[in-house]
Amino acid sequence: MSAQIIDGKKIAEDIRAEVKRDAAAFTAARGFPPGLAFILVGDNPASQSYVRSKGKACAELGFHSVTETMPTDTSEADVLRKIEEFNQDRNIHGILVQLPLPKKINEQNVIQAIDPHKDVDGFHPFNVGQLVIGEETLFPCTPAGIQELLVRSGNDPSGKHVVVVGRSNIVGKPIANILLQKKPGANAVVTIAHTGTKDLTLFTKSADILIAAIGRAKAITREMVREGVVVIDVGINRIEDPSSPKGSRLVGDVDFDSVAPIAKAITPVPGGVGPMTIAMLMKNTLKAAERQEVSRKA
Ligand code: NDP
Repeated sequence: MSAQIIDGKKIAEDIRAEVKRDAAAFTAARGFPPGLAFILVGDNPASQSYVRSKGKACAELGFHSVTETMPTDTSEADVLRKIEEFNQDRNIHGILVQLPLPKKINEQNVIQAIDPHKDVDGFHPFNVGQLVIGEETLFPCTPAGIQELLVRSGNDPSGKHVVVVGRSNIVGKPIANILLQKKPGANAVVTIAHTGTKDLTLFTKSADILIAAIGRAKAITREMVREGVVVIDVGINRIEDPSSPKGSRLVGDVDFDSVAPIAKAITPVPGGVGPMTIAMLMKNTLKAAERQEVSRKA
């Protein structure tokens, strides 16, 4: 069997084109574009690079964006003040505080200071609660991207047994809750596994769809899955590779080379889940903008 390689780059491009079209219609109707504010605290190079990429996406898709860069020793109170400014700013419809934050700043206090209607990361407890009870809300970007990958690649999770390995608040828990919803593109039977799972293979082998969000290179091997499984590999791990010019390369949480030959479909790393996160951030921001402007009119 030769697996379908789920092309996240292409699917993300399609979504970006749709969002660009709809953002242009929003701007034409309202006279101003959807707006997204980034708060970047400290000088973590990976965080700087993520914010740059997201800012570039805003420019490409016709969004207004602002980046507030704050030094590492910024106090929590100053970050909260900045968030409140953006909460009040009518030109800003989405607020993204780039994580992780310096240790002395409490992440939960920061997340909870964001107006839930502008919480385009979907991390605010209000939005988490809305997701769990099946109400309309802003979903976290990476999990929302995974659902889009499944549906748009023709691997609808409805009625399928989905096994999620990993229970983080950013990926594992939200994707499990999204796919559990009694809605089109979801309605799956969901199992969540983690380090407390005694016999991981017992669960992974029973998966129609396996979502690996573990953070350990090639942790899922051929012996752990059954033939015909659909695999979504969320992991991004850098491993040494003397044959690469950089001396290292990125791999997922799934041993692609051994699993792909028996899978029905699989996402590559890179080029699978990765490109979806920014596409979904843009989609969320447009959705947030539309909802805020409708509620202002009402
Ligand atoms: P976390 O480290 O927060 O969570 C990892 C989860 O995996 C935990 O729930 C942990 O269990 C579980 N786990 C770890 N080892 C095992 C094991 N041996 N058996 C079973 N479960 C295990 O990671 P994240 O969820 O934030 O990220 C996961 C991966 O996805 C990372 O590689 C990250 O880089 C990547 N990622 C990619 C994104 C993208 O593509 N845009 C976005 C976000 C993340 P326990 O809870 O018991 O400790």
